[in-house]
Amino acid sequence: MDARLEAIRNTVLARNPGEAEFHQAVTEVFESLGPVHDRHPELLEAAILERLCEPERQIIFRVPWTDDSGRVQINRGFRVEFNSALGPYKGGLRFHPSVYLGIVKFLGFEQIFKNALTGMPIGGGKGGSDFDPRGRSNAEIMRFCQSFMTELYRHIGEYTDVPAGDIGVGGREIGYLFGQYKRITNRYESGVLTGKGISWGGSLVRPEATGYGTVIFTQEMLKTRGKSFDGQRVVVSGSGNVAINAIAKAQSFDASVVACSDSSGYIVDEAGIDVGLLREVKEVERGRLKDYSLRRPGVSYVEGGSVWDVDATVALPCATQNELDGDAAARLVRNGLVAVGEGANMPSTREAVAVFQDSGVLFGPGKAANAGGVATSALEMQQNASRDSWTFEHTEQRLTEIMVGIHDRCASTADEYGEPGNYVLGANIGGFVKVADAMLAQGLI
Ligand code: GLU
Repeated sequence: MDARLEAIRNTVLARNPGEAEFHQAVTEVFESLGPVHDRHPELLEAAILERLCEPERQIIFRVPWTDDSGRVQINRGFRVEFNSALGPYKGGLRFHPSVYLGIVKFLGFEQIFKNALTGMPIGGGKGGSDFDPRGRSNAEIMRFCQSFMTELYRHIGEYTDVPAGDIGVGGREIGYLFGQYKRITNRYESGVLTGKGISWGGSLVRPEATGYGTVIFTQEMLKTRGKSFDGQRVVVSGSGNVAINAIAKAQSFDASVVACSDSSGYIVDEAGIDVGLLREVKEVERGRLKDYSLRRPGVSYVEGGSVWDVDATVALPCATQNELDGDAAARLVRNGLVAVGEGANMPSTREAVAVFQDSGVLFGPGKAANAGGVATSALEMQQNASRDSWTFEHTEQRLTEIMVGIHDRCASTADEYGEPGNYVLGANIGGFVKVADAMLAQGLI
């Protein structure tokens, strides 16, 4: 890392102790940015990096609620409003027991660059809670969401901060959150949240967008080597919204998708995953992958273990951060891996990224490859602002254009900086330059 940037990075680490994921995300971005600062020393004088690493506002709050047995439960809520140079803070809410400030800040930091790459007018933010939705009834989820919004509502707004979903937050939760926001504010402010239901201000394609976008981005990477998804053997981690839609899109491009996982284990379905059955088990019944294996002949279910033990030519990590380590990466590479498209945020460890890059595997980092979700959220905001709703075809067309645009911007930036094919460098510099320009123009704030 450039020595000037390393000194700034060390101050950031010392100032934010114990936030390992945030440290990782900052380090990974800083490693790309030396050459930009050689060309633009004014960025150092204006302390753009120091400002970027300090969120504009961080909110931490108590979320009290009662469970179905009448017992009082207390969770912690977060919203980190990281950077508003390009637009209102924008990013999802994650409900998962692992959530603490360091995870919200890594996600918020990544979101700044991701949102910039989409070319849409959105800043970066993220939030969530250490609430564990697993095993909770609908009524408990609703009471939790209502309590969460009873504090959050005063910090958000269509021109201020626009949350959406992430792990543990889907259409059901956005519904409860929106209802409570409307009730407290007495405003039908559609643009305050994205990922809404289609009959009350949501956008077609938003549920599919992250998974579809990841596959479209990966397809663009494959094209640069004269390849496509046709005939690729694909392994996907996760089986939530991103994973399911990545599987569906890869299959529509004639890939053979043979494995996916949940937090208990993974399935291998050599005949190709049956997306209809997968949706039924995971989205309708909110069940486990084991149930899928019990209902379909020829499927093996492996309890525990890592889905990355399954050979693939294309890997789509769509579960969570740091799920794919250096050893798994080396094994995949030895067994014929060609490309990786990150559907999750920072799913590959730094060691894994180094293995992919050193071995010439096409590697699409999450902040570029999974930007289709938030880009389609921005399309939802556009529809809300004009009180319009677009067709599936039109919206999907926009998503495709945006993903191809992100790919091309990353690729041309990597070329410009003398590292063709380095999508990490391209994404970090491409996103950073847009945000830094806007910050310089807006003065010291
Ligand atoms: N949580 C998603 C992400 O990581 C989507 C955010 C949004 O739609 O605002 O980008």
